[in-house]
Amino acid sequence: MNFHVLTLFPDMITGGLNTSIIGRALEKGLLTLKAIDIRDFSENKHRRVDDYPYGGGAGMVMAPGPVYRAYQHVKELIDTRVDEMNQNLSLVNVDNNTEVKKDENIVNFKKTRVIYLTPQGKVFNQTMAEEFSKEEDLIFLCGHYEGIDERVLEMIVTDPVSIGDYVLTGGELPAMVMIDAISRLVPGVLNNDTSAEFETFQDNLLEYPQYTRPEVFMEKSVPEVLLSGHHANIDTWRRQQSIVRTVNNRPDMIDKAVLTKKEQKFLDEYLKSKE
Ligand code: SAM
Repeated sequence: MNFHVLTLFPDMITGGLNTSIIGRALEKGLLTLKAIDIRDFSENKHRRVDDYPYGGGAGMVMAPGPVYRAYQHVKELIDTRVDEMNQNLSLVNVDNNTEVKKDENIVNFKKTRVIYLTPQGKVFNQTMAEEFSKEEDLIFLCGHYEGIDERVLEMIVTDPVSIGDYVLTGGELPAMVMIDAISRLVPGVLNNDTSAEFETFQDNLLEYPQYTRPEVFMEKSVPEVLLSGHHANIDTWRRQQSIVRTVNNRPDMIDKAVLTKKEQKFLDEYLKSKE
């Protein structure tokens, strides 16, 4: 998976994402991350990229030219790489004396998605992270000031995405949030394959509480069932805890939760006990 981030603050992106799990995945080559400085594509001798808004009003607006040229640069790099891959693929097939079946092996290079981080976009969630994690390349466009000239957004953006209903100073933190959430779904990035499978938002439920050593901490014990070694009971307890957490912390999710008849009965009884 290859991330390309168009930004005015490339150090923020590379510095913020090169540690821990994502850092290791970058080292292993499971992910690549390139931060492209939009200022490098300014034609102004002071590397200026913003200007006053037409029609007046507060703040500055990022000009379309540098953003468009930065995008074109990245797009060309992606297209060249995909083109080379396709050429190699054809060579392998010729060597093997096999026929190249059109559209089957050839990588499509016209579809790279461009995500514009904006508080006006669709709010990011786990389902979107799963969808984006299937892409080979993703381009992120980070705005600043009052945002970016609308014309270039109309030309290049495929997915306007927000990370929540609040306004930040720039798109770098939202891009990093998205890259982190998407990366951990890329096969091999997490050590334990199952750790991305059973967690919060799976089945529209929040994850159950977690405990580790010591067994007793400041007179608070780990729930008995977790020490029992009885896996079926542990699974049932965890599902019930997930249900309780979801109904208390995120009541908006519980109606969409996928529950068995037994679990629905447990939920009904739990809600009754709270009345
Ligand atoms: N004037 C813009 C508006 O009202 O929609 C807000 C601009 S904001 C100060 C500057 C930049 O921060 C945006 O262009 C966007 O890239 C980023 N940004 C701010 N809040 C965000 C959010 N909740 N999600 C994603 N990006 C955000």
